[in-house]
Amino acid sequence: MTKWVYGFGGGSADGDASMKNLLGGKGANLAEMSSLGLPVPPGFTITTEACVHYYSNGETYPAELAAQAAAGLKTVEGIVGKTFGDASNPLLVSVRSGARASMPGMMDTVLNLGLNDQTVEGLAKLSGDRRFAFDSYRRFITMYSNVVLGIGHDQFEEVLDDHKDRLGVSVDTELTAENWEKVVADYKVLVERELGQPFPQDPHDQLWGAVSAVFASWMNDRAKFYRRMHDIPESWGTAVNIQSMVFGNMGETSATGVAFTRNPSTGEARLYGEFLINAQGEDVVAGIRTPQSLTKAGREEMGETAPSMEEAMPEVFGQFVEVVNRLESHYRDMQDIEFTVEQGRLWMLQTRNGKRTAKSALKIAVDLASEGVISQEEAVSRVEPAALDQLLHPTLDPNAARTVIAAGLPASPGAATGKIVFDADEAERLSQIGDAVILVREETSPEDIHGMHAARGIVTARGGMTSHAAVVARGMGRPCVSGAGEISINEKAGTFTARGRTFKAGEVITIDGGKGEVLDGAVAMIEPELTGDFQTLMAWADGVRRLKVRANAETPLDAKTARGFGAEGIGLSRTEHMFFDEARIAAVR
Ligand code: ADP
Ligand code: MG
Repeated sequence: MTKWVYGFGGGSADGDASMKNLLGGKGANLAEMSSLGLPVPPGFTITTEACVHYYSNGETYPAELAAQAAAGLKTVEGIVGKTFGDASNPLLVSVRSGARASMPGMMDTVLNLGLNDQTVEGLAKLSGDRRFAFDSYRRFITMYSNVVLGIGHDQFEEVLDDHKDRLGVSVDTELTAENWEKVVADYKVLVERELGQPFPQDPHDQLWGAVSAVFASWMNDRAKFYRRMHDIPESWGTAVNIQSMVFGNMGETSATGVAFTRNPSTGEARLYGEFLINAQGEDVVAGIRTPQSLTKAGREEMGETAPSMEEAMPEVFGQFVEVVNRLESHYRDMQDIEFTVEQGRLWMLQTRNGKRTAKSALKIAVDLASEGVISQEEAVSRVEPAALDQLLHPTLDPNAARTVIAAGLPASPGAATGKIVFDADEAERLSQIGDAVILVREETSPEDIHGMHAARGIVTARGGMTSHAAVVARGMGRPCVSGAGEISINEKAGTFTARGRTFKAGEVITIDGGKGEVLDGAVAMIEPELTGDFQTLMAWADGVRRLKVRANAETPLDAKTARGFGAEGIGLSRTEHMFFDEARIAAVR
């Protein structure tokens, strides 16, 4: 009989990190972390094979899946000591997609599943916190309606904004239990109006609705576009992870955050990341509230006043540092990590090899080899030729006059000049006719991916260093300034204003993603300097494959770059790509 379901949690797991093809990246790493004895909320993974079966059998599940999932759920109930759908002691779960290759923001996650009018009361009693219970319920209704029932997020936002206006509050954390109860009641009215039937109350219906939605999201336009862009075959399918919930929104000793074991932008070997107190996972990435730095050093560097995690919850921070160090040495690479603290207790929710800029990839590879974590050959194999290529791209001339029109966060390094565009489709259209554009958005969402890809650079008015815009821009190698709060966009008028000036769509701006600045007009650029880590890595590549690269430069920039690089020189033309590829292949063997 085919095994469609793999359990994890409670110190062991059916799968491990080597099983990414079957369990998806998220599922495989959750299993691995469980087996390492790290605190992972227990759950189970429905395999990618089940998704493949689903699509090759007229969108039906394998016959044995229901029974295997029920058994998986039972095991989780046993570990957690709660029962799914039980009115007095309810188990809640998240339903998370997870393909083989990480597809950030492509597939949708539903949190707090299992809540209904009865279990929310159970959760309120159990936690002794009615506000928390109804906050969780309203989040669940919003996410489930959005992901599974197809009701737009903004409709729920509107209802919530009405409540906030009426109450005269500006942030979600100011709403009381009674306030959230009323919001939930209005949400249910909204769903019934849109759907013609009430919000699903049966937890099992909710669960299978969410599983189908994850499978369906494998075929949505965003996912298809991302696959095309990254050469991911449709036939792989996605896994579904069903995992018991932990709550970062249980008050001031609870929090949620994301971390990188090294700086994904510069490669600096220092813990880096953000967290939010009294919040759930999505809040950090969504840019609803501005997150705080994890470390004291990070906070000081960013000039933040709110305490870092290191200062606000020193004890659990200490544990966290131990866990992330362990993860980095276990995986032997920089990790991108999600975690939640529930009433002072740490829970690990995800780890994966972190996406990084070219600069960071180079520094991390060289550092890890110097630290003795990986060999020099491996370091060579870790840096994509395309990443080296990126390092050949120009940066802003430090001596050029710059008129800063707005400041934000240095979300993805590099410089770019282009015409202001406010819309992803328009960005794509203009770039197709040869225009360089800068996409300027309040914040980006997965629907904007094609526009981000088409743009030379991205500016967002909201969002932090781990917002959608920042993460995707770094992955794509696009310069990005996020959270430029001085910019106020008027999409209808096709303008933005900043520091008292108004800029129209089509006007030229320049962004400095390394500094986090938006500049007026086109600013002079300079060619990159290829010394230090670049030279070190190329010397290692040379050692691996006796790589002899002649400076067969094709442009004056290449030629100078090549001379700057040293005796034999390198400007990554096609030939150099080939040589470097050979060295990498040799290194991998
Ligand atoms: P994505 O691929 O978009 O990151 P995830 O499945 O990782 O989606 O989840 C979205 C957010 O929800 C993340 O912040 C994650 O940490 C959080 N999350 C997922 N499952 C749970 C859970 N069981 N308990 C608490 N938070 C969760
Ligand atoms: Mg995630």
